[in-house]
Amino acid sequence: MTKRILVVEDNEDSRFILVVTLRRIGYETIEAETGTEGVEQALSEKPDLIIMDLGLPGMSGIDAARAIKDNPTTAHIPIIAHTAWSEDHWKEEALKVGMVDYLEKPVSRELMKATIEKFIVSQEKESGRKARTISEQNKTQAVRIC
Ligand code: CA
Repeated sequence: MTKRILVVEDNEDSRFILVVTLRRIGYETIEAETGTEGVEQALSEKPDLIIMDLGLPGMSGIDAARAIKDNPTTAHIPIIAHTAWSEDHWKEEALKVGMVDYLEKPVSRELMKATIEKFIVSQEKESGRKARTISEQNKTQAVRIC
């Protein structure tokens, strides 16, 4: 089954690029423009993963992630921060509220794909697993251990 990713991003251009990138990788997408809308969509659509901008109008991405993680219905959904904010304290804050990873804009399609695959295993990846190199496997393991 095709995995669905919720994109929470207030900038229309960024959202469009992200959605096109994710669809090309092979995911279905759902979109939200604000943190509040993101929390609502997470609850009603139950996506497999969420990519969350941090700087959002009204409710911030951090607060939205906290709300999603605080709700038992949506707490299991992995959330990846996707932001231009590169300061360490934002990364700490994002991880503290339960986000699983942190991507700094602009992010390449390859990094986006690899990061998502750490948290959702697609059928495509299952069949392609054998082709992965040993160094890639080690990298993934290192990330999981951290
Ligand atoms: Ca933003």
